[in-house]
Amino acid sequence: MTRPLQVMKFGGTSVGSAERIRGAAELVAAAARERDVVVVVSAMAGVTNALVDAANRAGRGDQNSWQELSTFLITKHHEALRALISDPARRERIRAELDGIVEEAANRCRGVAWLGELTPRVLDSISGVGERLSSRLVAGTLVELGVPASALEATDFLITDDVHGNAQPLEAETRERAQAVLLPRARSGAVPVVTGFIGASKSGVTTTLGRGGSDYSATILGAAIDADDIVIWTDVDGVLTADPRLVPEASLLEHISYNEAAELAFFGAKVLHPSTLHPVRRRGIPVWIRNSFAPNRRGTVISPNGNPSQDCTKAVTAMRGVTLLTVGGPGIIGVPDVAAWTFAATAEARARILLITQASSQDDICFVVPSEDAGRTVEALRRRFLIGVRPVELDHIQVNDDVAIVAVVGDKMRGTPGIAGRVFSRLGREAVNLIAIAQGSSENNISFLVEARQMKTAVAAVHDELNLNQLAAPAPEPVAERSAKG
Ligand code: ASP
Ligand code: MG
Repeated sequence: MTRPLQVMKFGGTSVGSAERIRGAAELVAAAARERDVVVVVSAMAGVTNALVDAANRAGRGDQNSWQELSTFLITKHHEALRALISDPARRERIRAELDGIVEEAANRCRGVAWLGELTPRVLDSISGVGERLSSRLVAGTLVELGVPASALEATDFLITDDVHGNAQPLEAETRERAQAVLLPRARSGAVPVVTGFIGASKSGVTTTLGRGGSDYSATILGAAIDADDIVIWTDVDGVLTADPRLVPEASLLEHISYNEAAELAFFGAKVLHPSTLHPVRRRGIPVWIRNSFAPNRRGTVISPNGNPSQDCTKAVTAMRGVTLLTVGGPGIIGVPDVAAWTFAATAEARARILLITQASSQDDICFVVPSEDAGRTVEALRRRFLIGVRPVELDHIQVNDDVAIVAVVGDKMRGTPGIAGRVFSRLGREAVNLIAIAQGSSENNISFLVEARQMKTAVAAVHDELNLNQLAAPAPEPVAERSAKG
């Protein structure tokens, strides 16, 4: 009989020091007694930032960054190695591997400094090095604990397009490679410890899945090998009803749906990389979020339908760092092309649109993008509209970055009347001014835009009005054991 198959992903803080790596390895060792396990690791906390920073400095011609990077990486990983691996031969072998990887990264960085130019492709080959280092330490620690394990490079089986810095997996290719390379390893009883964050294009060039991408690696690989479940080990208890910095009494959501989790990830609950749930959707694989600092807590489980017995709203999130763009002016009324021009411009700028509204008079189209996308979006809009209308006819593109998006999320708001009414009446009583409101016909989220200074008030008021606390779990209870399938 085959044993259940679990992917266990450890984030940067969960492998952030020798002590944390040992804790992670102990969790893997315990899991591996009952199931076959694939481990996916992030870089040690702070390492990816250091790599990206060194590469960027080198790109600006800084001739010292490669050496500083090398010292930083060697110091950090050697220190962990000394604390974790006592067997001298093993320690020496891993040390040589780590040094080789660091040297490769430093050399690339040096090349970048020499040329004074950093391409996205080269950046990926530097920024993805942290996972190659941490995976060696984690695998070595497992072996020290008596669990057969080895480090594997995801570039051998996680195949992506070639959009460097934000690559997307190629599902068929990845499945074929992962079934051929990764699955037999996992079934052999030795634990594969796989580099998160990185993959390779069809031609074998290293790519990365975007910052925070190791979550995505875990679900891409879990889907590719038909894992029974995936556990994302992180540094928080799970998904909460609100950001505890905004709502101190926020509580844990024990069970939510893929859609709810995706909305929450999108709107600022920074627990998961936004694409994390795409790969598992079709196969219905449950994804757990658990706290490696408090592993006896149950965490949040994300499954296709969530918990049908719970009330219809689940959580309220908020997102700052966004910019409202309003395209309008008298000349716009009745011009049917304006919406097309506007969104052609946002597409050209590769802007991510977070919210759109337009009234029937068509004299104002407003939408919200992450602030880092705003500048180039405005430029693209100007270019488009100069071609499309006489400049006098379009008298404004307004830009406002002093705003925040607040979103109320819950699958079963669909078809439940009265929620928007309660939310907006309460906000009215709290004197929160609403700048724009959007709800799509999927009805699983109501989003609205407020002035940044009113964000906290708005989130707390909505949380209270909808009794989100009462609906969620009480303070997390320690649990001794949970089943593989949750
Ligand atoms: N190490 C990468 C990052 O910091 C990927 C990850 O940790 O998920 O973005
Ligand atoms: Mg993360």
